[in-house]
Amino acid sequence: MKAEIIAVGSELLTPDRVDTNSLFLTEELNKLGIEVVRKSIVGDNRDYLSAAFKEALERVELVIASGGLGPTEDDLTRETVAELLGRKLHLNNEILRYIEGRFRQLGREMPAVNVRQAMVPEGAEVLENPRGSAPGLWLEDAGRCIALLPGPPRELKPMYQEQVLPRLQRRSSNMRMFHRELRVAGMGESSVEQRIRPIYTRYAGLNTTILAAPGEIQIHLRVWTDDAAHAQKTLDEIVQGFEIALADRIFSQDGSSMEEVVAGLLTRNNSTISAAESCTGGLLAQRLTSIAGSSSYFLGGVVSYSNERKTAWADVPPELIQSKGAVSGEVAIALADGIRRHVGSTLGVGITGIAGPGGGSDEKPVGTVHIALAHAGGVKERGVLFPGDREAIRWHASQLALDLVRIHFLYNAGEPPARSAKRS
Ligand code: ATP
Ligand code: MG
Repeated sequence: MKAEIIAVGSELLTPDRVDTNSLFLTEELNKLGIEVVRKSIVGDNRDYLSAAFKEALERVELVIASGGLGPTEDDLTRETVAELLGRKLHLNNEILRYIEGRFRQLGREMPAVNVRQAMVPEGAEVLENPRGSAPGLWLEDAGRCIALLPGPPRELKPMYQEQVLPRLQRRSSNMRMFHRELRVAGMGESSVEQRIRPIYTRYAGLNTTILAAPGEIQIHLRVWTDDAAHAQKTLDEIVQGFEIALADRIFSQDGSSMEEVVAGLLTRNNSTISAAESCTGGLLAQRLTSIAGSSSYFLGGVVSYSNERKTAWADVPPELIQSKGAVSGEVAIALADGIRRHVGSTLGVGITGIAGPGGGSDEKPVGTVHIALAHAGGVKERGVLFPGDREAIRWHASQLALDLVRIHFLYNAGEPPARSAKRS
């Protein structure tokens, strides 16, 4: 079954209100194997609302609306849907007594406008609302189902769970959504697409989404089917294809972030880490310590912007800074080596670069970053030119630093500490 959601309310078209009801509803519907194919947000306007319902009902079997069931003039959902379906509205005395009772409990008289909330379209089932005054409505028309739910999330959620869900369960098939997520570092969106396109286009019924997030690409695979075993087998097969196409660029297959992946590797390998950061201003340390329990692997670090502090805190020889410049592969290596020795950690990271917008030159333009990872077996250094503004450059630098740590474990885990120190 396919569904659409209509969020009703002019307040949702302002810059300061977000439609969260549809997120909740989408998650719940997906659990039942109901795919949400379209959502709309419509202001309190009779014509727009009527058109939205009319079009949705032409496309799908289930339309769920939230909001616009209140007592005021601008709450139009009930009247609009009744008119669209050609159903008369009748006063429901039971609801009226319930609403009057609620007001009485609060020591107040029910305002006349609230009578509107007791109006029910012909043939509609009433969805009780013990948490508010407006009841919801369930309508069936020409094989399609319509649920009209109140806008406030604290009323909508329980009403969905208690009264809409059982109705949908009776109807829904065994269709389910099966989902995989892969995260890729160190590649652009188009090169990821280029490599995996020949694989995913071979599968009919597979929905593939490639999303660019800062410093990473996320690939989402979705299959809607009633055959769980087949879905899992298909997804396994596609993921295996992606693993060959993208190799060690895939850093996560369970939704975990780069820092979570690196934290896991450090913990599992009983390793510790320290960092001497220049252009990232502590961002690497911040990300490494954003994970609970990080004190077991992150021993400490320094933010050393001046040349003098690079020497004092990470033993970078002043002559090296003089001859190669503070932003250089040699200084990144010295920072990594120095902080590792100072702190006594298994690994040491050094970062130096030009985050901009000023400070660039022809030889070393804004975005130039050198990152080094020192370990017992030697040190690895990468020099890169990142695109984007200051914030993007700093984020990319921290992401690459984390990725170097990840790659280190991928290829060097279990490396005997006695192995001769070599620089690469
Ligand atoms: P009421 O009886 O409370 O008037 P209603 O069905 O008319 O119910 P609305 O007036 O449209 O609901 O919305 C009431 C409040 O519910 C809004 O001010 C807003 O805070 C919240 N709300 C409405 N729609 C949404 C939505 N789609 N997502 C999140 N919150 C919403
Ligand atoms: Mg409203």
